Order: sequence, then C-alpha cells, then structure tokens
Amino acid sequence: MFRTCGGLRARAGPSAGGWQPLNFDGGAFNLKGTGELLRALLVLRLCAWPPLVTHGLTLQVWSRRLLGSWLSRALLRGSIYGQFVAGETAGEVEGCVQQLQRLCLRPLLAVPTEEEPDSAAKTGEAWYEGNLHAMLRCVDLSRGLLETPGSADHVLMQLKMTALTSTWLCKALTSLVRDPRASLELSPERLAEAMDSGQDLQVSCFKAEQNHHLRASLSRLHQVAQYARTQRVRLLVDAEYASLNPALSLLVAALAMRWNSPREGGPWVWNTYQAYLKDTHERLKQDAEAADKAGLAFGVKLVRGAYLDKERKEARLQRTEDPTQPDYEATSQSYSRCLELMLTHVSRRGPVCHLMVASHNEDSIHQATKRMWELGIPLDGPVCFGQLLGMCDHVSLALGQAGYAVYKSIPYGSLEEVIPYLIRRAQENRSVLQGARREQKLLSQELWGRLLGRA
Ligand SMILES: Cc1cc2nc3c(=O)[nH]c(=O)nc-3n(C[C@H](O)[C@H](O)[C@H](O)COP(=O)(O)OP(=O)(O)OC[C@H]3O[C@@H](n4cnc5c(N)ncnc54)[C@H](O)[C@@H]3O)c2cc1C
Repeated sequence: MFRTCGGLRARAGPSAGGWQPLNFDGGAFNLKGTGELLRALLVLRLCAWPPLVTHGLTLQVWSRRLLGSWLSRALLRGSIYGQFVAGETAGEVEGCVQQLQRLCLRPLLAVPTEEEPDSAAKTGEAWYEGNLHAMLRCVDLSRGLLETPGSADHVLMQLKMTALTSTWLCKALTSLVRDPRASLELSPERLAEAMDSGQDLQVSCFKAEQNHHLRASLSRLHQVAQYARTQRVRLLVDAEYASLNPALSLLVAALAMRWNSPREGGPWVWNTYQAYLKDTHERLKQDAEAADKAGLAFGVKLVRGAYLDKERKEARLQRTEDPTQPDYEATSQSYSRCLELMLTHVSRRGPVCHLMVASHNEDSIHQATKRMWELGIPLDGPVCFGQLLGMCDHVSLALGQAGYAVYKSIPYGSLEEVIPYLIRRAQENRSVLQGARREQKLLSQELWGRLLGRA
C-alpha cells in the first residue's frame, strides 16, 4: 500500500536551516511494492547486458516464434514493457499516472514515433497526419490526467518534431539556416506569420514538393501548438541529431514568437538543449538573451544528449568535425555551465523563464537544488526535474518527496508500436543503462532488507 504524497512531503521537506543534499540512498524505495522492485532489478540487469540491447529486435522475433505470440507478449508485458511503458489504453496510462502521483511524481507523456534520418519508408503526408492526430490525443490525455486543483499550469508533454515534418526537409532547412543569404527568407517571423495566417509560403530555392511539405508541416505544428495552448499543456520539443537541430530550433523559434509572447503568458513551447554538443552553451546564451530582449517567455529542457555514437559515426562518414564534446567529463562540464546559465536567468526573469533539469545524474541534481536554494528559486516553481519512467526511481522519489516538481517521461502505446522504440532508445542510452549499477545495488539492498524482515 502506498503512502500519500502530501503525508510524506511533510516528513521529507527541505531543511529550514539551509540547503541539504538530498539522499539518493534508495530510502525512498520503501514507497514501492516488492513486485515492482523485483521487476525493476530484473529488467535493469537484463538491459545492462549488451547482446540483449544490440539484438533486441531479432530476439523479439525469435521469442515469438519459439514461445508463441501470447506467451512472448505476456513476458514482454511483465518485464521491459511493464517497466518502461505506461500502457496501451487511456485507462492503463491513467492507472500508471495515478500511481506516480501518489509518489509525488508527474507525467510527461511522449508519443513514441520511430523514424531514422533518411528513412524513406514512412514519408508521405499521411504518416505525418496520423502522427498529428496522435499528438492531439496526447494533449487531451495529458490534460485529462492532471485535473486536480492548482495543477492547471503544470501539464507538460514531449513533442518530437520529426513526427510532424520529414528529416529531409529538416536537413534542407538546416543548410539554409546556415547560409546567411537565406536568413531573411527563412526568419522565424516569416514562418510564424505563415503558420498563423495559413498563407502560402514559398522558399525560392525549394522545389514545389519541398514547399508543399513545408506548408503542410507548418500547419501541423500550428495545430498542435494552438490546441496545446487552449488546453494549457506546455510542449517540450525534443532535440534530435545535430544535422536537424538548427531546423528544429528555427521551427521552435517561429512557434515561440506566437505562443510565448507576453499576451499568451507561457512559455508554452520549449526547446531542448544537448550539453554534449560543443556549441550548446553559446547557443543557449544567445537564445536566452534574445528571448529576454524580445520580451518572450523562454522554456528549456536541458539534457546531456542521446545520440552520441551516431553523431560521431556520421562525422567520421562525412569527414566533418565531430560536433560532440571529446569525453564524458567535458559533457558534464558543459551541462553544469548550461545549468548555471539557466538558473541565473530563471532567478532574474522569474516565472516567464522555465527550466527542466532532464537528467538522472546525481551531481547535476545536487548542483541544481543547491543553486535553486542559493538563488531563492521556489521548489515547485519554474524549475522542474525530469527522468525516464522506470529509470533512477531512487533519484525521482527522493526529489518528489522533498517537494521538487519531478516529471517522468512516459511513452505509451501498443506493444508492437513501443518495443522497437524502446530498443532504439536502449541502444542510444547504452551507457546510461550500463551505468544503472548503483540503482541495481540499491534495489538489491532494499529487497534483501525486506526478505530478512529489516525495517
Ligand atoms: C525527461 C527527459 C527528456 C529527454 N529528452 C531528450 C531529447 O530531447 N534529446 C536527447 O538527445 N536526449 C534526451 N534525453 C536523454 C538524455 O539526453 C540523456 O541521454 C540521458 O538522460 C542520460 O544522461 P544523464 O544526464 O541522465 O546521465 P549520465 O549517465 O550522467 O550521462 C550520460 C550521457 O553523458 C554523455 N556521454 C557519455 N559518454 C560520453 C563521452 N564519451 N563523450 C561525451 N559525452 C558522453 C551522453 O550524452 C550520455 O547520454 C532525455 C532524457 C530525459 C530524462
């Protein structure tokens, strides 16, 4: 049986005497059932085993052949799917979210869509229109999940741009963004105007097919942002590959002109910054200052970055400079500098500037909570924390119990839709899964403690 969020918060609030580092020693696992802990330990051990992650899709096909569809599905539901996915139906997602809410955690729903850059298989407007409807349903679901008083402006969801516009268009836009001669034609103002008015937009060097897809993409983005705004759901746009990000940032900037303007309040549309890219700190500084100067609200999800291996492989293939930091320490240093920059902006600009510290890293979280205290940023104000569902619950629970705003990024959908997505994410986050050893140790300790009847 779970204890309620409010009751625990009173016991675990921040010390009145000053900042105290949070205890990520697994104490908060006592909030979870033994079955859940066992599943978490088993799944994290399995995911830290490289062949399972590398050959996940092939293994899934073989398990269906050998065990039959029913048994194979049941195994997946009881393990990986159950650990990392909220469920398939709205009712299942609701059940999962209610459980999180009892533990002082909030949902950050993510529609799992799969598309690799340059994959031709899924292109065509119909696929993007289907994704648009999935995003609109996600807005509804996110809104419906948090119908508690006082939570009106706490509803966030993730949005993957390449579910609504193709990677080939993003690459073409990226090339243009990098060309100073094209900057007037592709200014955020011009795109924002086209989105708002629905007027025809022609980019002179684009072919008819590209212009047509750009118009359709702008219309989809406008529809999602408009609907999310009316439902008071904040959209956190994911960062993707370095070859696409300049285009994604241009589209976010266009959406921000409209939806983060002073008359709208907000920020309703946030961008994601990946600390593993060498130019991120400089870009974040410029964007934060530009938003301030323009009087726009500014929302940031700060991550280390998920596509390290692919970025490096691509740079080797193209014989271009590797855009990523040389090692883990450099990425962490960059994360720390970006965090400091954003917290200072939040403390100066107040609630028009929002930040999600999206990380499982205990040092980054200590830095954030310490600086929040020093800068007088309220615990449940414009700074929140984000972790993936099923990952680092010892960190999320400790934060939530201490009264910080904590979101769990939650994919949902049918097994067939979600498993390929999960396997891809596991391949991208291999180092994180292998680094979850501390979580495994804490889970084992808690389970042994229960077995031996220790309090
Ligand atoms: C809520 C949420 C939303 C997210 N959204 C996005 C998103 O939009 N886009 C995105 O790309 N990722 C996203 N991520 C994933 C994120 O970028 C990280 O991959 C993940 O969180 C692991 O980083 P960490 O800070 O939690 O953990 P840590 O274990 O401290 O860091 C691992 C990370 O360090 C970096 N790293 C590891 N080894 C090296 C090396 N040798 N050289 C340089 N850097 C290295 C990599 O970025 C790696 O992912 C999201 C994560 C969360 C929790």
